[in-house]
Amino acid sequence: MRSFKRILFLLLAFLVVGYVVVVLLVPPYLDKKYTPVHQAPPYEISPEARALYDRLDFTADLHCDALLWRRNLLKRHTYGHVDIPRMLDMHTGLQVFSMVNKVPKELNFQKNSDETDKITLLYMVQGRPLSSWFDLSERVLAQARALHRFAKKSNGSFRVIETRTDLLNYLNDRENGQEVTAGMLAIEGGQALEGNMENLEAFYRAGVRMIGLTHFFDNEIGGSAHGVERGGLTDFGRALIPKMESKKMIVDLAHASPRLVSDVLDIATRPVVVSHAGVKGTCNNQRNLSDEQLRRIAQNGGLVGVAMFEVADCGKDYTATARSIRYAADIMGVEHVALGSDFDGAIACHTDLTGLPLLVEALQKEDFSEEEIQAIMGGNVRNFLLSWLPD
Ligand SMILES: [Zn+2]
Repeated sequence: MRSFKRILFLLLAFLVVGYVVVVLLVPPYLDKKYTPVHQAPPYEISPEARALYDRLDFTADLHCDALLWRRNLLKRHTYGHVDIPRMLDMHTGLQVFSMVNKVPKELNFQKNSDETDKITLLYMVQGRPLSSWFDLSERVLAQARALHRFAKKSNGSFRVIETRTDLLNYLNDRENGQEVTAGMLAIEGGQALEGNMENLEAFYRAGVRMIGLTHFFDNEIGGSAHGVERGGLTDFGRALIPKMESKKMIVDLAHASPRLVSDVLDIATRPVVVSHAGVKGTCNNQRNLSDEQLRRIAQNGGLVGVAMFEVADCGKDYTATARSIRYAADIMGVEHVALGSDFDGAIACHTDLTGLPLLVEALQKEDFSEEEIQAIMGGNVRNFLLSWLPD
């Protein structure tokens, strides 16, 4: 009997040590593996583009998934696309941190069901709280807490923006020379609400200010561009939009099915965002926006964050991104165009965050004026949030 207990104890100790080793080694391995770049730093940038980048008073990006990887964002990394030291180097105005919460296995851009999920195993090997392993809303809350922890431990160099007042104070402090950068919390995939309006309240309290209604599969709110049915708004979705609007949360239509985009634009009383998407006009695929959709989003007063990766812009560098931005701006007006990198989104990006001056160079070649480049690189996002965040 005693030897049986001993074997059991040894087995348990072995499992615990094994789990700790996994939690220490596997997350950085996965992070490195899933966040490559086509072009690695250091970047060769023309002096004109560099100088223009340095004159930009506010850069902003509407979508990055850095929180998924359990990376310590307070530290500088040689892999991945974004961390706070790199944001400070680049004088980043605002990075939206979107929280991925359920991703099907055998992921594809055409058709996915909601039956499988890769995030459970990822959360396990990342040593996330047990409560978040099987619970989508808890998964989001765990990531949100992580971003707030980074802010708390950043010695004042990083803030989470939740209100218009936060943003005004932050802009003021930057203007007075304070070295500080900021993030805003968003959700990628409204299945995290689990069809329960109370979770919306919890997300709001956690600082979430933007929600991408769908991700890779149809959910309780509506259809995904990559789903099975790809339908429009459900009854829950129809109740959710006004509720989000009353709380001044921003509706994000990235990954939405065409019917969902159309249904939301029919009832929206506030401008929407498409946080990261390309345009069919330069790169025709299922996830990109049609001319008609671009027109409607402009009429709604919304913003499109033009995505910067191969599936979205059909290229491997910022020449392709700038071409998409030119196309979107010609249809919508430059005031509706922003950046939506999809940094750290389990895809190869053209560069990491520090390569953004190369995008400025590509925008100059597309004949955008300095004023227009200011607007695209972040001015439009700043103005949008100053108008539409809660007070
Ligand atoms: Zn995405």
